[in-house]
Amino acid sequence: MILLFIGLVVVFATVSCKSDDAKMPEITKEAMAAADAAVAANPDNPFFKPYGTPFGVPPFDKIKTEHFLPAIQEGIRREQAEVDAIVALKAKPTFANTVAALDHTGIFLSDVTSVFGTLQGALTTKELQALARQTAPMLAAHSDNIGLDPKLFERVKAVYDRRATLDLGREELFLLENTYKDFVRGGALLDEAQKARLRELNQELSLLSVKFGENVLGETNAFQLVIGDKADLAGLPPSVVAMAAAAAKQAGLADGRWLFTIHVPSMTPFLTYSERRPLREKLHRAYFMKGDNDNELDNKENLRQIAALRLEKAKLLGYPNHAAFVLEKNMAKTPEKVNEFLAQLWEPTLVKAREEAAALQALMDRDPKAGKGELGSWDWWYYTEKLRQEKYALDDSALRPYFKIDNVRDGIFALCDKLYGLKFIAKPELPRYHPDVQVFEVQEADGSHLGVLTMDFHPRPSKRSGAWSGGLRRAYYEQGVRVPPISTITCNFTLPTADAPALLSVDEVETFFHEFGHSLATLFSQGRYRSRTIARDSVELPSQIMEHWVLEPELLAVYAKHYQTGEPIPADLVEKLEKSSLFNQGFITSEYLAACILDMAWHTAADPGSVDVRMFEQEAMDKIGLIRAIMPRYRSTYFSHIFSGGYSAGYYNYIWSEILDCDAYEAFEEKGIFDRETATSFRKNILEPFGTEDMMTQYVRFRGAEPKIDGLLRNRGLEVKK
Ligand SMILES: [Zn+2]
Repeated sequence: MILLFIGLVVVFATVSCKSDDAKMPEITKEAMAAADAAVAANPDNPFFKPYGTPFGVPPFDKIKTEHFLPAIQEGIRREQAEVDAIVALKAKPTFANTVAALDHTGIFLSDVTSVFGTLQGALTTKELQALARQTAPMLAAHSDNIGLDPKLFERVKAVYDRRATLDLGREELFLLENTYKDFVRGGALLDEAQKARLRELNQELSLLSVKFGENVLGETNAFQLVIGDKADLAGLPPSVVAMAAAAAKQAGLADGRWLFTIHVPSMTPFLTYSERRPLREKLHRAYFMKGDNDNELDNKENLRQIAALRLEKAKLLGYPNHAAFVLEKNMAKTPEKVNEFLAQLWEPTLVKAREEAAALQALMDRDPKAGKGELGSWDWWYYTEKLRQEKYALDDSALRPYFKIDNVRDGIFALCDKLYGLKFIAKPELPRYHPDVQVFEVQEADGSHLGVLTMDFHPRPSKRSGAWSGGLRRAYYEQGVRVPPISTITCNFTLPTADAPALLSVDEVETFFHEFGHSLATLFSQGRYRSRTIARDSVELPSQIMEHWVLEPELLAVYAKHYQTGEPIPADLVEKLEKSSLFNQGFITSEYLAACILDMAWHTAADPGSVDVRMFEQEAMDKIGLIRAIMPRYRSTYFSHIFSGGYSAGYYNYIWSEILDCDAYEAFEEKGIFDRETATSFRKNILEPFGTEDMMTQYVRFRGAEPKIDGLLRNRGLEVKK
């Protein structure tokens, strides 16, 4: 649901090592002349001159689509010239003249691409999309040219090999180690034959993942449940029926037909409300058999090959398996550690899931329409909804009036004031890419400038779906002075209507707090260097912790006021909300964890290329005792996150971050949820150095100990009864 958009390497830094100055790389006269010529050739292009705007906000009013291509080409040329200067240096490689210098390359390019990326996500056009297709291979080749430059690696390695004698600071050592590691992980230490094989593997893997994704999409689009008999709509609410009628019409079906598909927004309402058990089964079965139908879209051979090639690549690079390769850069570090954590969570989750299944089975046994039988995976949504209505009568439309978007925004501002003393000053005069964008200057308690925050709340056809926090500039230090960041929040929240302002659902309010947390990490950043190395299993800590404040009565009293009457949200509504938040957690957590465990099984398997996919999966699930009425959230043949996305050996990232944010939030609960001292410590130890230090070290400095999973278990209502 929530899409994170954080560039991995963004901003700038300057190292002043006086003794090294004479040996610093300098770009050649030819390269300087080329830069001058490019400036002269682009007199009206805002990227080729200083922005001249307050806080260096990009001059969106002057930037035109045709400005991007020459600026990206020039950015690539300049960065290559900067890298060439490092390689050409005769002086002995040092941290300053090689590692810090490399970190400081490509500033022009990242200034351009950050604006380009922002517009691509929030205000795209056919021209921008064509430009992205044109520039993506250019940028990828450029990145390979740097990453596979053997002379550049030689210099980095020379510094790395002497690291113990260099007396580097914490941040410098972290940067050096990660720079070196990134070269090595990209194959820099391999011989030529191995490098050639690695390139082949990467090529094959990229093609197979594309194929995997195409098959999943093909299978998802291929299935239709067409209903022609009105009686088969039994149980479905009018809005769902209307949606299915519209879908049928769009698909060119005759009048009096209703269409349901295995796209989640169509399938879930049917599984939730349909009284026709055989139809629920038919629909759900089509969903969970995707890619496993022994047809031309079957994914079993694809995923076997992907897993096998990943294993080969990992071994080529010196790792026992793909999971070990991936996890090295995460907090968890090893597959053993991830498996241990998942097992720890699994035990209480399974207890809860069994309890829930028993309650649903009892409900089903009493249901005259159900017929005799065992609760199936296609029954879960239906009986859960019945139980939900029985236990909590919670109506979304009764809640929304208390979450007017401006009130929620001001509530977050108030929270940031309480915690960190921040002030948010509207700056409508600053350049923006669309009139709907709100721009704020963020100030410290003493009035000094911290950064700029832009917010763009509502959907439009030119915006991609989801919600994300991004950046137009990361904080960095130039000549010892902090260049402040510009953070962006982009969402697709409910629109205002003719009669009412934008009134958010609780989910949307949580999303807003979540993205704001990512932005706080950007705004507070005190990194000296441009590079950030963020362990992917910790990236949701700053965002997920913010969600804990959303329903705190003390904060609700500040912001959740009826948009018409100004009345604060009634206590009984808040109570219902809190109670229902634990409902069905056994199911939600177990289907998620089962998918994490399946992911880990594939990426630690000794010989994944020759297994029977169905048996492999069945054995992995039998081993943890997953009950039959629950499926892993994704079965292998349509697990796109791990076989065609970037989450291989990483589906656990969300819950690992949740262990951190729950444990960290307990520090606030212990001292008071607005405790300034705890907030200051969280800022200094977690947010300011985020991505510039080992995360566990940071965390222990904040919390005094490594995180415990108790907080997460409580948060999900999964404590084991003793
Ligand atoms: Zn996030």
